Amino acid sequence: QIGALPMPDTAGGDRPNVVLFLRDLTESRRLETMRADFVANASHELRTPLASLSGFIETLQGPARDDERAREQFLDIMRAQAQRMTRLIEDLLSLSRIEQREHVPPTQLVDLRRIARQLVDERVPLAAERGIALTLQVPDQPLPVLGDRDELMRVVENLVENALKYGGGGGLVQVSLAREEGLDTRPAQIVLAVRDEGPGIAPEHIPRLTERFYRVDTASSRRQGGTGLGLAIVKHVLNRHRGRLVIESEPGRGTTMRVVLPEHRPGGTADLQSLNPA
Ligand code: ADP
Repeated sequence: QIGALPMPDTAGGDRPNVVLFLRDLTESRRLETMRADFVANASHELRTPLASLSGFIETLQGPARDDERAREQFLDIMRAQAQRMTRLIEDLLSLSRIEQREHVPPTQLVDLRRIARQLVDERVPLAAERGIALTLQVPDQPLPVLGDRDELMRVVENLVENALKYGGGGGLVQVSLAREEGLDTRPAQIVLAVRDEGPGIAPEHIPRLTERFYRVDTASSRRQGGTGLGLAIVKHVLNRHRGRLVIESEPGRGTTMRVVLPEHRPGGTADLQSLNPA
């Protein structure tokens, strides 16, 4: 946008004083559209379970009033819908909190091995019930990153949960951690990989998976209790940690999600600067 504003002639000269302003509206329009889409999507996601709840309440007050069995069944569905709304609101709040902190570098010294161990140990029994062998491979050396422990837990949790949910209900889910030497003067990287043997993801979906509410199969995601916000949360946490998510998938063979984070080398201010460039 280019514009001109006439200014009062304070100098008393005979030429008019004009201030020119230049503004790029493309970026602000794009952000505005994204915001509007997000509000529309969030409202739609919340309206769906709410409509179902209203429908069941009406049925329970009307035709099913005296049907004991139907009442039990409907109440179970209603509880599930209410839980779904709670999950959705919790994920929306998490995303908003993480976004607000996105420009504040995290300061806790975190060993990713501990986070991975805790999350994997907790889920091994549940995975076994679904016929999935959930395994963890970690090196002996510590894998330190400067991070926010709760946010990094959330990242690993979302990736492991997705591998268990979409991993095809069987086979192997492997979580592994490794340190990769940096090229040239760059810091080494800590890589956490979650690999499953599920149906995989077609290439055209991969670039969009971290968009809010984007799902390959909405019905299957909802059935699994997904909100469509998990990978968006992962992306924003990794932005704050100067890390990235790399998704590799081969339809029919499985998916590997890799989190790549800069290693923290203790004591080196140069290292700290390269973690948090000005
Ligand atoms: P959701 O709450 O639906 O799980 P996510 O943001 O975590 O949302 O994931 C987005 C979509 O990516 C999922 O709905 C699913 O279609 C796809 N997806 C994520 N992880 C995997 C995986 N390991 N294998 C296949 N599809 C996956």
